[in-house]
Amino acid sequence: MWLSKKFIMKTNIHPAYEIIEVTCSCGNKFETRSNLCKPLSTDVCNECHPFYTGKQKILNTGGRIQRFADRFGAFGKTPYVVLAE
Ligand SMILES: [Zn+2]
Repeated sequence: MWLSKKFIMKTNIHPAYEIIEVTCSCGNKFETRSNLCKPLSTDVCNECHPFYTGKQKILNTGGRIQRFADRFGAFGKTPYVVLAE
């Protein structure tokens, strides 16, 4: 048959392709297939990436947001100066 000649893969040239477990930094775990053949850890996944969650992730290290608000917070508001008449 022409089928058997054309579609049978060659042996001993393909890397191993196994089911591996992926662990995200958020704690989420899922399985995928890879020729890595060992557990994989990722920084971000579809459970915690802002694109999928719709929530913004704010990294407030060392009070940076507060310092920004202290310095530039006045630009967001309209300061009124009441002039004496
Ligand atoms: Zn995640």
